[in-house]
Amino acid sequence: MTNRARVLKAERRRDLERRARDCRVSTLTVREATTLIDRWSWTDDLIDRLTSSVGRPRYLAWRGFFSLLVVHAMRTRGTMVLTEVLLTALAMDDKQRRIAGLPPFLEYHHVEGNFTDWRNAFEETVDRATGEIFPPRIPYSVDQLITDLLNATAPPFLTQYSSLAADGTAIESPYRRRSRAKDGRPDVAQGQLPVDASESAPAVATPGWPRVGVDGRAQHTVDPDAREGYRSPKPGQTKVYIGYEPTTLCDVPGIGARSRYTLIRAIAMRPAGSDRCEAGLAAVDTLPSPPEELIVDRGYSYTKEFGAGLVHRGIGMVADLHKNQRTTRPGPRAGTVFIDGQLFTAAVPKDQRSLATFPQGATQDERLAVAATYDKRSAYAFKPFGRPRSSGSQRFRGPALEGRVRCVNTPASMRKPETAKRPTTNCVPGQPCGCGITVTLPVRDYARTHQTKIYGTTAWLKLNRPGKSGGSFRWLSRSA
Ligand SMILES: [Zn+2]
Repeated sequence: MTNRARVLKAERRRDLERRARDCRVSTLTVREATTLIDRWSWTDDLIDRLTSSVGRPRYLAWRGFFSLLVVHAMRTRGTMVLTEVLLTALAMDDKQRRIAGLPPFLEYHHVEGNFTDWRNAFEETVDRATGEIFPPRIPYSVDQLITDLLNATAPPFLTQYSSLAADGTAIESPYRRRSRAKDGRPDVAQGQLPVDASESAPAVATPGWPRVGVDGRAQHTVDPDAREGYRSPKPGQTKVYIGYEPTTLCDVPGIGARSRYTLIRAIAMRPAGSDRCEAGLAAVDTLPSPPEELIVDRGYSYTKEFGAGLVHRGIGMVADLHKNQRTTRPGPRAGTVFIDGQLFTAAVPKDQRSLATFPQGATQDERLAVAATYDKRSAYAFKPFGRPRSSGSQRFRGPALEGRVRCVNTPASMRKPETAKRPTTNCVPGQPCGCGITVTLPVRDYARTHQTKIYGTTAWLKLNRPGKSGGSFRWLSRSA
């Protein structure tokens, strides 16, 4: 180290120590953090895998390091910059450091060294001399670790709801944009929700940029993991941004259940502009138990394989539809029709084929009135019959077989009384119709728009109400 570098380093240290004197860390926070680390099911296994069996013991022990990260996250409500993590350690008193398992004196390179070793443990290593490849020392995905850490933070009596909502949030990289694509179009994975044709990234050009990231995508900042993405902006934000998109899954109280708490249950962090189908399913796969239903926005349901991925996991989907999914098209057999992504008998009365949507800013009563028209139509829908077959197909039964409509071509259905919920169709005796048939559909064909609660119905509306997950994010920013 040159003299000048040594002087700079000492100056930085003095500056940090000065700032640390103005910081307060409460002993309660330290105790909460260490309790969390001790309760996290991975802690012992992680520490075992990270601890080498030879050489001197690590100066900053792993338990202390993990506790320090949590103390810092609690103190700063979630920011994680390593120099600031050191500041938190310096702000702790001797007793607090003892509780957390930290050594009495810490320097930046200790914190950074632990962090680097931890990160590297997720990657394969290659012996340069022999070419031998060693598997990662930590054989779990980062997604899984995060989800399990989240679950360790949730009080055990606040159990996961049977319905969860998936949502993507944009996190901007703090680094300056150096470049953009030649045509200025946002860099978003194929098959995602269409991006407004008028949107483009700000015109920035720096020689040597963009670089090509390890994933083959353009890297526009010095942050090697951040990518360009597209979001629905809040006021003052741009639609095209550079950073990350975590997919979060959070509790949604079921129909009729009172909203008591909504906790985030899983997070899958991805660079912005990544495939939401992959991120959403990865988040689901980290859960200790899958939900009965997943409520998703169009960012997920629009991708081709997401719905099928949920069907194969035995999870129902509740989603809003993109306007080009709200269509009527012929079904797989005569007498059947797809309406708003769901299979119906073609006996649906003509005036119920195309129903009004939920107006923006409508009151609860207005929305329920619209939903009532969808409820009425839902009598004519086909319902899945049994579980999907391993071959990737699903049987559906016509509504007359289920006793939800009365049709002359299914005599048994006519023996049931007509009610407001069980209409009689206008089918002509002897003329084939779809009411009483069973249809087999490949999962990949219907699952993209199929919903366990039929689109637009009261049951659908109650799960899919706007702002469904906003509460959780407020919770996160308050107490993280
Ligand atoms: Zn019929």
